[in-house]
Amino acid sequence: MKKVAVIGAGASGMAAAISAARSGASVFLFEHKDRVGKKLLLTGNGKCNLTNIKMGPEYFHSGSDVDGLIKSVIRRFGAEDTIRFFGELGIYTRNRSGRIYPYPETASCVLDALRLELRRLEVKERVLSRVTSIKRVKDGFELAIKGERQYTERAEKVIICCGGKAKPETGSDGGGYKLAGELGHKLIKPLPALTGLKSELPFFKALSGVRADALLRLFIDGEERESSAGELQLTDYGISGICTFDISGSAVRALDRGSRVEVSVDFMPEFTPSQAGVYLKNRFENLKDRGAAELLNGLFHKKLNLQFLKLMGIRENTPYNELPSDFSERLCGIVKDFKVSIKDYMGYDRAQVTSGGVALSEVSETLESKLCPGLFFAGEVLDADGICGGYNLQWAFACGIIAGRSSVL
Ligand SMILES: Cc1cc2nc3c(=O)[nH]c(=O)nc-3n(C[C@H](O)[C@H](O)[C@H](O)COP(=O)(O)OP(=O)(O)OC[C@H]3O[C@@H](n4cnc5c(N)ncnc54)[C@H](O)[C@@H]3O)c2cc1C
Repeated sequence: MKKVAVIGAGASGMAAAISAARSGASVFLFEHKDRVGKKLLLTGNGKCNLTNIKMGPEYFHSGSDVDGLIKSVIRRFGAEDTIRFFGELGIYTRNRSGRIYPYPETASCVLDALRLELRRLEVKERVLSRVTSIKRVKDGFELAIKGERQYTERAEKVIICCGGKAKPETGSDGGGYKLAGELGHKLIKPLPALTGLKSELPFFKALSGVRADALLRLFIDGEERESSAGELQLTDYGISGICTFDISGSAVRALDRGSRVEVSVDFMPEFTPSQAGVYLKNRFENLKDRGAAELLNGLFHKKLNLQFLKLMGIRENTPYNELPSDFSERLCGIVKDFKVSIKDYMGYDRAQVTSGGVALSEVSETLESKLCPGLFFAGEVLDADGICGGYNLQWAFACGIIAGRSSVL
């Protein structure tokens, strides 16, 4: 019986262990925290967005996917496969606009299902066991493990599933990068992704707590690169919320290389600029007896209304007939193109994933290392990150299943 060591018991590690054990291997699963699957419990605000029906490589980013590995992985194990995999473990799913959740919308039932399957397959779980090094030896690998005691374990195949650096308190502290590096692998610089973006503009403190449906356009060195729509959250440091997260990977990488980053917020995304202009002009004509702030009441959040007026240099109680003649045009310009210069980003403690990691160009279609045969990678430790919506767990599960199965061939 082939002996497979899986390092890291997150989503990818548990899937890899199940897949290798189902293929007939004797599997050891090492986890340095006191229990498996800590991060899984946080996913989807505790509801666990398992995958997404709209699946394709366009929902992922990688700096090293020269061979189309992402496409190959999700073709070989796609959203339907994830739904079937969990269905067989007793997890009935629900579809919320393409996002797939367990029916009770609790992450704990997903973790329990995985744990029950690990137990049924007699996977040997070793918690409080940190793999500190992996050495190549004849017929396999020797792992150094640090826990209550220090010891070594041999395995014919090893799957590194250590995740990235996001939310280090769950155990993902970049340990996998060190192990990969020692075995000769190149790293694409890890950076936080799916995270908030910081601005130094003075008004964010006053706007903190405001939520608004918006369209965000990301400009890097003056050029529009990406856009994302959804609920924007304004915070005391800048912008957050899913639409911010989805453009944050590109923004963070641009800031890291010293580029100028700006986000243009459209607070009336359902209106074209000319429709918005006409609507605002008519609205103000009809509400002539009101002061400036009252004219905006019912249009945007009160804190935003006041901020828009401030940016135009207009006092909130200015009567309609004293407002500048181009008031509606100027307001339209601001609400359709509210410019936020981005100076920094929230770190790993607030990020949901890590962009960068082990270069995809250095692993084969079966996720085996091209440099070190018998060594496999799965999940976020690899240089691939998805947008919000179930893509990162899909990547973790798909890689785990493929690597686990392949490790036993
Ligand atoms: C708050 C939050 C919400 C999220 N929500 C969603 C969502 O709803 N849907 C979605 O698709 N994605 C979501 N994600 C992203 C998703 O959770 C991750 O991409 C995914 O869990 C990565 O799985 P992984 O197995 O690759 O890594 P991880 O889950 O990070 O697991 C790695 C494991 O390896 C262990 N480890 C590390 N080094 C060692 C070592 N040397 N020895 C032993 N053990 C080690 C760690 O302790 C950890 O348990 C969310 C992330 C966060 C933080």
